[in-house]
Amino acid sequence: MLNGIHFLLSYMCNYECDHCFLYCSPSSKGTFTLKQIKRVLDGAVKIGTIEWIYWEGGEPFLYYPLMLEGMKLAKERGFKNGIVTNSYWATNSDDAELWLSPISKLGIADFSVSDDKFHYEDRVENLSKYAHIAANSLNMPIGAISIEEPKVEEGIEKEQEKGTPVIGGGAMFRGRAVDTLIEGLPTRPWQSLKECPYEDLTGLKRVHVDCFGNTQICQGLSIGNFWEKTLSDLISEYSPEDHPICGPLKQGGPAQLVKEYNLAHEEEYVDECHLCYLARKALLDKFPKYLGPRQVYGL
Ligand code: SF4
Ligand code: SF4
Repeated sequence: MLNGIHFLLSYMCNYECDHCFLYCSPSSKGTFTLKQIKRVLDGAVKIGTIEWIYWEGGEPFLYYPLMLEGMKLAKERGFKNGIVTNSYWATNSDDAELWLSPISKLGIADFSVSDDKFHYEDRVENLSKYAHIAANSLNMPIGAISIEEPKVEEGIEKEQEKGTPVIGGGAMFRGRAVDTLIEGLPTRPWQSLKECPYEDLTGLKRVHVDCFGNTQICQGLSIGNFWEKTLSDLISEYSPEDHPICGPLKQGGPAQLVKEYNLAHEEEYVDECHLCYLARKALLDKFPKYLGPRQVYGL
């Protein structure tokens, strides 16, 4: 049952992290307008099962007034609000309180801050500590998201495939991560990548929406365009078996996607997402309605 709508409020981000699975950067285009946000929220009400609205990006604080107004509108409609941010704005604890005070007054149920080497490696200071201090002083909930450099974890075996090396660190091999992080990592034969390990392609629990209308169930994989058909219709009519990408993925994972469309491929890939992402990239022109936007594929 779908219970969350995650706004990709903007694809723009002040950072350009190696592990970014949406390929965001300061020059990325695609930001919601207030009118569009209202339309999506009204559509979310009609779905009937939505509890959560998340504000993400890119970096949602780059569009602070829009995010705040969107949160108000979501609250008026009975939804709980959550935010995911890289905390670039938390330059010290006093100033961080200025940013967070209106949010805490409005009420927020989940507030997640990136707190890892990938976000702060080349910067003078990890600013997330100030976000934590400010949130604690305002009695706001706050959690951390940490992604580390991919590394092979010794002595751990996946239950389903004994002997398969496990790559730790939490990075997902989609988007920019595929172009920047895979070198030197162990690989597996493409035929062995037979299932989607992370997404429930049948019982959708949350979707990410962007201002172009893409209703994404994984980065760059959409079930349709909600500017062409209402969100509630898209959700109720979604059938993974009839979807040109989800059908093969459900049947036999990324390997089946390659077989179904007879795609050129390497012999080995780091993991399922690595193959899935590159297979989908090769199919962009064939299925523009379901794959996009192109910038998420680094194009
Ligand atoms: S991972 Fe987050 S902080 Fe880094 S570029 Fe992507 S959206 Fe921005
Ligand atoms: S990239 Fe493909 S295999 Fe990986 S989680 Fe997304 S849909 Fe599943």
